[in-house]
Amino acid sequence: MTGSRIPENILDIIRTTENFVVMTHVQPDGDAIGSLLAMSDLLEHMGKRVFAFLDEPISHLYDFMPGCGNLNPNINDLRRFIAECGGDIGAIALDCGEADRVGKQKDMMLEISPFVVLDHHLSHQEFGEYRWVDPHCSSTGEMIFEIAEMLGQTPSYNAAYALYVAISTDTGSFRYECTRARTFEIAGKLVGLGVKPEQVAGKIYDNYSPERLKLMQMVLNTLDLCEDGQVACIHVTEDMFDVSGALAQDTEGFIEYPRSIRTVKVAVFIKETRRDVISVSMRAKGEFNVADIAKRFGGGGHRNAAGCRFPGGSIESVRQKIMPAIRNALDSPPTQ
Ligand code: AMP
Ligand code: MN
Ligand code: MN
Repeated sequence: MTGSRIPENILDIIRTTENFVVMTHVQPDGDAIGSLLAMSDLLEHMGKRVFAFLDEPISHLYDFMPGCGNLNPNINDLRRFIAECGGDIGAIALDCGEADRVGKQKDMMLEISPFVVLDHHLSHQEFGEYRWVDPHCSSTGEMIFEIAEMLGQTPSYNAAYALYVAISTDTGSFRYECTRARTFEIAGKLVGLGVKPEQVAGKIYDNYSPERLKLMQMVLNTLDLCEDGQVACIHVTEDMFDVSGALAQDTEGFIEYPRSIRTVKVAVFIKETRRDVISVSMRAKGEFNVADIAKRFGGGGHRNAAGCRFPGGSIESVRQKIMPAIRNALDSPPTQ
C-alpha cells in the first residue's frame, strides 16, 4: 500500500498533538500554499487548533484558493499562539528542502517540538526531528493526501481543492516526469470529492493581469539560445518591472516558454527582483539534472526544476557563473 512508507511516528504525532503551527517555504508556489491550506484544514477537521503561518502576505496568483483568508503572516499572533499552547504544540514544515527555506522565523519555529518535515525535494537537506522525505512523490500535496488516507480522514472540499492546486501546479498540469499513476489516482479522487479541473485551471492559468503580459513581452525579447539550441536563457530586470507595472510573482511560468523550444534541454531564467539579490530558476528535460547545478551555487530543487540565489552581482555576472556549469554538465552527461 502506498501510504505504508509514511513513518508511523509522524502519524502518531498528528493523531495525538492538540495544537499545530503549520508552515511552508518562502516565495511559496502552488504546492506550498495548497499543502499549507490542506494540512491545516485536515488538522482542524481532526479537532485541533492550527496556526497556518505564511512568511509573507499571499500572492495575488493564489488568493483565489478557498480558505486562504486563514493564512496568517503576523509574527505577534504566532508568538501569542505558541505561548497559549503552553507546550502542547507541534510544528509541520511543508515542501521545505532545507531549514533556511522556512524563512525569517526559522529559529522560533525550530524550537517547537515535535517538529515534523514533509518534503519531496531531491536536494533535501535534513532538518527537524521527524521527517518524511519522498522525492518520488510529485508534490507535497500528494504526500498530504497519503497521510489523510492513512489517518482515515476524507479531505473536505476546501482541502481537496487545495491539494488539486498543489499537485497540478507542481506537475506542470500533469506533464512533468514526476507525474505517476498514483498522481492521477489521487487527482481522480480529488475530482470525486467535488473539485472541477476546468474551473481550477481557469483560476491558475487564465487569471493574469495585463501588466504580466506586458512584462512577458519584454522578457521574451531577452531570449538567448546557445550551445546549438540546447540552452535557452531569459532574464528580467528591475526596469522591466517598473515599466510594465507587474509584480515579482507575475514572472511565474515564464520559464515554460524557453523550455518549450524543441531543441532546448535546459532553460534558465535570471531575475533581478530586488536590488541586492539575483535569483535563478532552471528547468531541464530528460536526464539533465538542474538540481546538481543549483546545489553548486547554494540552491536546490528537483532534477528537472531547481533554483538558486546570488546576493549582489549583476545579471551578466550570474550568467557567467551559471552558463559554464551547464555547458560542462552537457559535455559530460551522468553515467547512471
Ligand atoms: P522555481 O524555479 O523558483 O520555481 O523553483 C524550482 C524548484 O527549485 C522548487 O522546487 C524550489 O523549491 C527549488 N528552489 C528554487 N530556489 C531555491 C533556492 N534558492 N534554494 C533551494 N531550492 C530552491
Ligand atoms: Mn514548492
Ligand atoms: Mn513541491
